[in-house]
Order: sequence, then C-alpha cells, then structure tokens
Amino acid sequence: MNTIYLILGGNLGDRKTNIDKALRLIEVSLGHLLKVSKYYQTAAWGNTQQPDFLNLACVVATDKNVEECLKIILAIEQQLGRVRLEKWGARLIDIDILYFNNDIIATENLTVPHPEIANRKFVLVPLCDIAPEFVHPQLQLANRQLLDGLKDSLEVLEYMMRRD
Ligand code: ADP
Ligand code: MG
Repeated sequence: MNTIYLILGGNLGDRKTNIDKALRLIEVSLGHLLKVSKYYQTAAWGNTQQPDFLNLACVVATDKNVEECLKIILAIEQQLGRVRLEKWGARLIDIDILYFNNDIIATENLTVPHPEIANRKFVLVPLCDIAPEFVHPQLQLANRQLLDGLKDSLEVLEYMMRRD
C-alpha cells in the first residue's frame, strides 16, 4: 500500500461541488480516503485578476504506483471538465500530488514532493489539518514547521458554507 497526499483546488463554477465530485472519483479510482481537510479560501496566486480559490487536502491509501496515480488524477480533472488555457489561469479543478510515501521523484512528468509546498500557505494550511507531523523527506521539517516558517503570504481563510 502507498500513501499519497493530494491538494485539490479550483476557482471556477461551483467550486465546492467540483471538489466534492473529485473526492468521490478519487475514492472510486484511486483508493481509500484516510483524511480530508476543511475547505479553505484563498485569493488567486500569480494572477490576481481572477476569482478566489477553494482548496482542500486529502490523504489516500492506494495500491497504485505514482505514475498510475498521476494518470488517474489527470483523468479526473478531464472528467470534471478542466480545460488548460494559461499557466496560473482560472480552473475548474486542479489536483496535485504533494507527497507519495517518503519518495523523492524527479522525472519528466513528476516532481514529488511538490516543489512549491514550502512556499504556499494555501497548501500548508489544509495539509496541517490532516498531517501536521508528516516530515518533508527533502527538507526534513514537519508540515507544521514549514507553515510556521512561512512569513508573507496570502491569507487562507476557512470556508464557511453558505446557507441558501
Ligand atoms: P499546475 O498544477 O502547475 O498548475 P497542471 O495542473 O497543468 O499545472 O499540471 C501540468 C503537469 O504537471 C501535469 O501533467 C504533470 O505531468 C506535471 N506534474 C509534475 N509534478 C507534479 C505533481 N507533483 N503533481 C501533479 N502534477 C505534476
Ligand atoms: Mg496540477
């Protein structure tokens, strides 16, 4: 069994529904969801002229290898209607691999641990909901320590469900 940590995010359409659909597809095709973070809202990174993002982190037990996992998450993005337009552009859903066991992977298709973990509060805040003590295999610091060490960054707010 492998343990894979994922970050899900999107800033178009019904963001929460898209994330919830992605979680269901992850359970169907990737493996058992062990933990799921709260939902967090963050101003768009890189290009600020677009809607806020909703993000969530989860950890999954899977019998798939990392390449298979990447194929599955790309297929889930497609199934949910993601169209790649511009880098850092608005998107319905983005699913990235944060960690895969304690593995360090650098291939044409994959960089794991995800190279931006330590720079992104919108990743570390949800990640600390589900795995504060997990130690980054390259930096040798726990997620909680990485978050504490992060100075300036966009505000990450817990997302309150609207009552319609
Ligand atoms: P981004 O997530 O940077 O906005 P995309 O979602 O469009 O960009 O992903 C483009 C490619 O990034 C994927 O097809 C995949 O091959 C590659 N990639 C490299 N490392 C990772 C990772 N850790 N998780 C997900 N995709 C990755
Ligand atoms: Mg991605």
